[in-house]
Amino acid sequence: MRRPQPRNALAMMKGYHSPQLDVEVRLNTNESPFAPPEEFTRAFGEAMAGASWHRYPDRLAKDLRTRIASKHNVEPKQVFVANGSNEIIQTLLLTYGGGGRSAAVFQPTYAMHAQICRVSGTAIASGERSSNFAIDVDEVLRVADHHSPKVFFLCSPNNPTGVADPPEVVAKVLAIAQESGGLLCVDEAYGEFNSSSALGMLDEEVGLAVARTFSKAWAMAAARLGYLIGPSWLVAELYKAALPYHLSTASQIAGLLALDHTEAMQMRVEEVVKERERLQGELAKLDVEVWPSSANFVLFRTNTISGEQVWQQLLDRSVLVRNCASWPRLDGCLRVTVGTPQENDRFLESLSEVLT
Ligand SMILES: *Cc1c(COP(=O)(O)O)cnc(C)c1O
Repeated sequence: MRRPQPRNALAMMKGYHSPQLDVEVRLNTNESPFAPPEEFTRAFGEAMAGASWHRYPDRLAKDLRTRIASKHNVEPKQVFVANGSNEIIQTLLLTYGGGGRSAAVFQPTYAMHAQICRVSGTAIASGERSSNFAIDVDEVLRVADHHSPKVFFLCSPNNPTGVADPPEVVAKVLAIAQESGGLLCVDEAYGEFNSSSALGMLDEEVGLAVARTFSKAWAMAAARLGYLIGPSWLVAELYKAALPYHLSTASQIAGLLALDHTEAMQMRVEEVVKERERLQGELAKLDVEVWPSSANFVLFRTNTISGEQVWQQLLDRSVLVRNCASWPRLDGCLRVTVGTPQENDRFLESLSEVLT
């Protein structure tokens, strides 16, 4: 039989994935090293036992959106919730991207922005970050003039570099996006680990949306839950593109109960930030190049042995980090997620062994 072929854009894709290997120290996907509080897990089990399994979930997730809205001092109609921030990005591109339209990304950055462009038939308007991986406003202007993208993506703090965009830079990019009739989406998947946020720039009259997730700081990657905050007109459009009942009752309950434990989340974030600073300090003593991070991971490049070899030799010691070689301009770079103090020690010991 002649197999039907997928669309050209998909046929050429390798797919985006980090290997899920069985190791003792897993520091490759920026998850939280800590489980959520036990009270959360218990409350979730109880709530699920009483859930109406035979009924569809609340299609508009009103309770969850109301709670998220009050956390950020906005209206529920300014909040869109979905299965991870990846579904947020997908819905945004299904709504504002698609055939004949483009979205701007600034490399190196989170690979899923470009990947979801391809899947949604959105052209990629690709720009470059400057040599220290900061956003270069002139380059944003060039991309805007050349492609008039309908969506501009910033990722702050940026994955996989850890670099955060200062508020004045975000404001400039927003002005450029507005000027060229596009909207700006700031992906703040690591926003809780950073001291600044674009949330303060939100306005009903401005095409700005901020995406956040429960997968990192909230220690709930398994729940697949993320949210977007933006103008209510934008959120209303997203709900036209989203599938009916896309967010399960379990996800909605998980989000609601997680928000009862904001303080525990904040304590975990502080612990991770402390360990991140230690990790950066220790890495700086080794023969590697390290980038300053505002997230829960650190990017580094080894000077003597190839990144590929270091990655493999860490894996031989049951320590898994992310090989960033497939990213543009990150040849030889590795990204390590901040783990527990013990995991970070294991990583640091293994790395110094590999490097000597
Ligand atoms: C991890 C990550 C996400 C989160 O994806 P989820 O679908 O919410 O798990 C989004 N954006 C960036 C930049 C990330 O690194």
